[in-house]
Amino acid sequence: VARPAHVHVVNALPKTRSGKLLRRSLQALAELPGSRLAAVSSLYASDPLGPADQPRYVNAVVALETDLEPLALLDALQRIELAQGRERKAERWGPRTLDVDIVDIEGYTCDDPELIVPHPYAHERAFVLIPWLAADAGARLSGEGVAKRVAALDPKERAEIRPLGMMEEL
Ligand code: ADP
Ligand code: MG
Repeated sequence: VARPAHVHVVNALPKTRSGKLLRRSLQALAELPGSRLAAVSSLYASDPLGPADQPRYVNAVVALETDLEPLALLDALQRIELAQGRERKAERWGPRTLDVDIVDIEGYTCDDPELIVPHPYAHERAFVLIPWLAADAGARLSGEGVAKRVAALDPKERAEIRPLGMMEEL
């Protein structure tokens, strides 16, 4: 049975490489076995979380209907990261070429360190919530509408998540 899942895709790369990588990653998600890409958000720029001397992040959230079991989905996402040449410096919050996380899976929760669903920071991160709402206007997180959480964000925090035009910047 296909379960609706939401997946957050993000990278911090120089402009010319960022769009290409996002497109390839979304294509790989669409091609996962037993899966259908039901919706894709626009791309949103956000400022780096940690050290400021890194490129801005580009975020997207997709709605994926998938037959894959949660751990198989996690494994598939990690394969996509590796296939797209993810590089990660040792530094926490440092620049990353690609991070693909499970935001939530409808009707499923998990609390293993290996897989925490819903994603532990999803409820408080504007760069997840805003694209998530764009991909799925009816999205819910722990029984509450994502729209309500977005509305509750600090306006300054909300303004920092900037939609990228199709041609602009990428
Ligand atoms: P982060 O996403 O926190 O920046 P990583 O992408 O390196 O860091 O992921 C570290 C580990 O987090 C993964 O190996 C995975 O087992 C675990 N993890 C736990 N919950 C999730 C989730 N919801 N989505 C993706 N990875 C998760
Ligand atoms: Mg991750």
